[in-house]
Amino acid sequence: MAWRSTGGSNSELINNLYQNGMIDSAKVKDAMLGVDRAHYAPQTPYVDSPQPIGHSATISAPHMHASAATSLLNHLKPGSHVLDIGSGSGYLTHVLAEIVKPNGQVVGVEHIQPLVDLGRENMQKSAEGRELLANGTVKFVKADGRLGYKELAPYDAIHVGAAAKELHPKLIEQLKAPGRMFIPVEEGFLQHIYVIDKAEDGTVEKKRQYSVQYVPLTDPPKHGQED
Ligand code: SAH
Repeated sequence: MAWRSTGGSNSELINNLYQNGMIDSAKVKDAMLGVDRAHYAPQTPYVDSPQPIGHSATISAPHMHASAATSLLNHLKPGSHVLDIGSGSGYLTHVLAEIVKPNGQVVGVEHIQPLVDLGRENMQKSAEGRELLANGTVKFVKADGRLGYKELAPYDAIHVGAAAKELHPKLIEQLKAPGRMFIPVEEGFLQHIYVIDKAEDGTVEKKRQYSVQYVPLTDPPKHGQED
């Protein structure tokens, strides 16, 4: 029901999502109020729907971003260390950084260089975004997200923004104990969100949640096939 939450401004969109129960955490709402979606989804930013950002990628709908951030929230504290795989527009990377600042870090991973650049450019559009980049709270890197990002591991929370073929073991390895990963996984023609919890003693628990539609977590396009 994308239309129900549509607003004329970022604050209207976010407040409508909150009133309609699509955001159910005040902390996540405040973080999303601090990030203007127009900097990341320039066509129709204040509608609760996904939209294309080029290179076969989409910025997810804001209610999906809210759901992911809320799911990870117990592991998002000032100072927490987060991995955002398939960072695309950079929107969620910025929202997560609003929650873990100060002293936290969110690493956005993309396998297409123009999208690494896009995330960075979008964040440069606001003073808050520029500061988060300048002080190292947010970092965008080019890598294959299926392997995580070992250089800055381990992470309190891992968000995967594209549908994986499997629960990549390297990602689970790079979770702290305790830590949580939010990951869409392909299952036949369907995709489901899985939440992976690593307990303090290292025990791993996998929970299947609702069905979703994400773009796939894949090999990068071959040279010359990037649109
Ligand atoms: N969270 C982003 C989602 C972008 S769509 C947003 O809301 O803007 C999913 C992204 O995953 C795409 O940008 C795509 O380029 C990226 N992706 C797909 N496979 C990948 C891989 N193996 N490694 C890193 N990024 C990948």
